[in-house]
Amino acid sequence: MRIAEAQQLMRQLYGPRDAARGQEQTFLWLIEEVGELSQALRGKGEHTKEEEFADVLAWLLSLANVAGVDLERALLAKYPMRCPRCGANPCACPPA
Ligand SMILES: [Zn+2]
Repeated sequence: MRIAEAQQLMRQLYGPRDAARGQEQTFLWLIEEVGELSQALRGKGEHTKEEEFADVLAWLLSLANVAGVDLERALLAKYPMRCPRCGANPCACPPA
């Protein structure tokens, strides 16, 4: 599944709900899910890390729908198959 297909799936499943909830509340749900991913990565919480990664991505895609952002296009624009800072693939930037 491409990113654009995943974003379209979220639009099909939840588009009207996401639009009604709005950008601010959808953003807060994304942050909630990021918190749950943090728990799962530590072996805590109710769900597996696989489930929480899926939820974080799903909410990010929903937020992109509400915000009118094509996430596949945005990702490729910022990361055009190479590091945006050094231009290399793989990245050759000094470690942060
Ligand atoms: Zn780099």
